[in-house]
Amino acid sequence: MDFGFSLSQSSTVNLDKTDLSLFHRVHEIEPDVAICMACGSCSATCTSSEFTGMSLRSVILDIQRGRQEEARKMLSGCMLCGKCSMVCPRGINTRRLILTLGRVFDGEDRNTRRDIRKEVRK
Ligand code: SF4
Ligand code: SF4
Repeated sequence: MDFGFSLSQSSTVNLDKTDLSLFHRVHEIEPDVAICMACGSCSATCTSSEFTGMSLRSVILDIQRGRQEEARKMLSGCMLCGKCSMVCPRGINTRRLILTLGRVFDGEDRNTRRDIRKEVRK
């Protein structure tokens, strides 16, 4: 029967069945990723969001929910300008977090995690 509308699919994420390995790898290098409160200040001030839809808030939420491909796609819109680092109320070094995310996505962290940690903290 056609009611003229349809119900949206549930967006519930079963964290017990979700692959969170990428989030844990990022967390090991940048523990601050866990203190993001998803306020959206970074996204609201993002230089490239208007042109690419970039939203660090969404990227962090995606990796916390195992949506790695969505996060990787969105991250490609970042210009690494660092503007978001100046507005984060949690004091997260967002630019450094983005650099770490890029390296983890590229698999560069697997053997050299300690080196990356040193490098991104420079
Ligand atoms: S560093 Fe990336 S996410 Fe942050 S404001 Fe610049 S373009 Fe946006
Ligand atoms: S501004 Fe900071 S706390 Fe707010 S969503 Fe962005 S990274 Fe998270």
